[in-house]
Amino acid sequence: MDAFPEHTIAFTGLKDGEHRFTYELDNAFFVATEQEDYVGGKVHVDVTMDKSQHMLVCKIHVDGTVQVHCDHCNALMDFPVKGDQRQIFTLTGDENEEGDEELVPLDAQAHEVNLTHYFFECITLHMPARRVHPQGQCDPEVDQALSQFTVEHEPEPDPRWEALKALKNDPSDLSIP
Ligand SMILES: [Zn+2]
Repeated sequence: MDAFPEHTIAFTGLKDGEHRFTYELDNAFFVATEQEDYVGGKVHVDVTMDKSQHMLVCKIHVDGTVQVHCDHCNALMDFPVKGDQRQIFTLTGDENEEGDEELVPLDAQAHEVNLTHYFFECITLHMPARRVHPQGQCDPEVDQALSQFTVEHEPEPDPRWEALKALKNDPSDLSIP
């Protein structure tokens, strides 16, 4: 997804040590993710960036809701999302560290870093694959239609079992051992 300019941190002007940043992600962000299942959302992001000479250690915390369709009744709902992700940017320009996903080498000349992609990653990481309403909160009409659908497709009773039941219900067969 395209980077949002407001998610760029110009770190060269920052002293070594911890710095905090907050962001509000709204519908525009979720539209920009180009994820069909993310209709919209409202997520607060806290970033703690620990700057040292050779790296930036970013702790990203997301807390909010993502608008998705319920996987059971298909109604729109605000699904809660909350979680953390750590992202480390190295400033040495050393590409050898690329194997570790948590470590992202920045160009030695870089003076800013954009976090849009990492906010998206953090949210996606904490969204379960199956998103459904809490029990009893699905669209009641759809719920009812679905339950009828389930009943209609129950397997046919086993004919042997039916025969056995008929046998047991017939008093004339009492002599059978
Ligand atoms: Zn539902």
